[in-house]
Amino acid sequence: MHATGFAALSATAPLERFAFERRAPRPDDVVIDILYCGVCHTDLHMARNHGGFTTYPIVPGHEIIGRVRQVGAAVTRFKAGDVVGVGCMVDSCQHCQPCLKGWEQDCLEGATFSYGSTDRQDGSPTYGGYADAIVVRDRFVLSVPDGLDPAGAAPLLCAGITTWSPLRRWHVGKGSRVAVVGLGGLGHMALKLTKALGADVTLFTRSAGKEDDAFRLGADHVVLSSEPEQMKAVAGRFDLIVDTVPYDHDINPYMPTLAIEGVLVLVGYMGPLSHPVNAGAAVRGRRAISGSFIGGMRETQEMLDFCAAHRIVADIETIPIQNINEAYERMLKSDVKYRFVIDMASLTA
Ligand code: NAP
Ligand code: ZN
Ligand code: ZN
Repeated sequence: MHATGFAALSATAPLERFAFERRAPRPDDVVIDILYCGVCHTDLHMARNHGGFTTYPIVPGHEIIGRVRQVGAAVTRFKAGDVVGVGCMVDSCQHCQPCLKGWEQDCLEGATFSYGSTDRQDGSPTYGGYADAIVVRDRFVLSVPDGLDPAGAAPLLCAGITTWSPLRRWHVGKGSRVAVVGLGGLGHMALKLTKALGADVTLFTRSAGKEDDAFRLGADHVVLSSEPEQMKAVAGRFDLIVDTVPYDHDINPYMPTLAIEGVLVLVGYMGPLSHPVNAGAAVRGRRAISGSFIGGMRETQEMLDFCAAHRIVADIETIPIQNINEAYERMLKSDVKYRFVIDMASLTA
């Protein structure tokens, strides 16, 4: 199937228009015309090979909202015209323990990601959502409930589920005290979701000037992480800290702000931390450092349904795809409120 999108051809090249082939649809495939695609910081990490494993060309994009064009003969959950979502994964083995538990993201054979992976059956490269259309196995397609604005819903497919999953895993609800580190795409979803779950939520930010937005997005408190006095004032406070910072950073200042048995869960940065972690802060108080990776398909649908019931979508700035390189530069400067979403109509404009 012919497709058109935007790709990076090397780690240093700006993204540019790119024509490519997608696989011919199989009986359990859904062909989706893409309406909107969110711009995740992971797209930038991957386009620029921050992890050292990107293969080129790469078509990023894993916050996809589209309309079903056609379905294969074995597909029963979707029909032409449905508004659907696709997130970070498009396949997994379906038989390992994590897959059977609904944790396809942790598939022991390795999940197939929306871009930068290879198809499990024919080995062809997967290309993401900065494109006019995508072909996805039906089990990895999500229903977008009526009432969710399709552009605002796009970031739920990655930023939403990535912050929702740890909130559920650690049973956040009324009476919980949660902190979120970093107010970007993931961070602003974490504030909204935590608030909607009934918890008290604090934002840690290094950027003075984000306070008003943070309160509007649901924060009960804002702490400037560069101010030692403000950090001291929240010592021992949090049951859960969701750390969304995308680059190597010192987590030591956050550890004493955890309550006894509190957990700091890393969802942003995935590489080695260069600041040695002071074990004392974990040992005394039985505090833990953990991590969390997107979320499973069942959990993602649960999150979309929760967002529809609570009228939650992302705060977005819609861009034409031609502005993607400028959007990356702005994202690096934290100059985004709070997610860029590509209007895919711009691809043919
Ligand atoms: P984003 O929109 O760029 O937001 C990141 C925020 O972190 C910024 O707004 C900023 O907030 C803070 N920040 C940025 N650079 C920093 C630095 N050098 N030091 C300290 N704080 C910094 O990014 P995003 O799309 O939310 O993604 C965040 C990270 O999550 C990325 O690394 C992405 O790859 C990762 N991710 C992981 C998963 C997963 O499954 N675990 C899923 C999706 C994304 P303040 O200005 O408020 O400090
Ligand atoms: Zn993402
Ligand atoms: Zn599996």
